[in-house]
Amino acid sequence: MEFIKSNKGGRKLIHNGYLYIKRSSNKSSIYWQCSHKVKFACKALLTSDLDCAVVKSVSAHTHDPDSSEVKAEKARQQINADALRSRATPGQLVFDEMARQELDVRVKMTTACSLKRNINYKRRQKQPPVPQTLEDLIFEGEWRETYDQKPFLLCDMHEATDRVTIFATNDGLKNLCAADSWFMDGTFKSCL
Ligand SMILES: [Zn+2]
Repeated sequence: MEFIKSNKGGRKLIHNGYLYIKRSSNKSSIYWQCSHKVKFACKALLTSDLDCAVVKSVSAHTHDPDSSEVKAEKARQQINADALRSRATPGQLVFDEMARQELDVRVKMTTACSLKRNINYKRRQKQPPVPQTLEDLIFEGEWRETYDQKPFLLCDMHEATDRVTIFATNDGLKNLCAADSWFMDGTFKSCL
């Protein structure tokens, strides 16, 4: 069976062009209700085993399956996955995915504005908490690297109450070495 991650972190089940949301479960089965319970007053119920490997039964829907809606849900999920892998702007991510879809799917996708809002929300969830002191500022794992897993944190020196942290890519350093002039800017106040 195929699933799509919902915005709230749950999952939707796809079966024969219909989308289902988990309603309940017991020791032997999971009960999935049609995602259009309200829109089409549809009471269709799909019963699966606990591993979601077998569909035990499906009752009749009050409406036809909608393949463009399923594609739109998959596109939305793809945008959210891309948002965590790429540093493209939310607008660019939405535009790129929309461009890959047929018109009928684009119509079914939620508005660009809410898709962008969702990207920002997903990215914020991945951010570490805002540090309150310099000691709270710890760079680990992916925060020491670029998006393509190259070293980015070159130096993180602590001395008494001072701290010097340097970020650069190898390419950036090469450009710096090749330049005749360097122009510098600085921030001399911060909240930490
Ligand atoms: Zn239905």
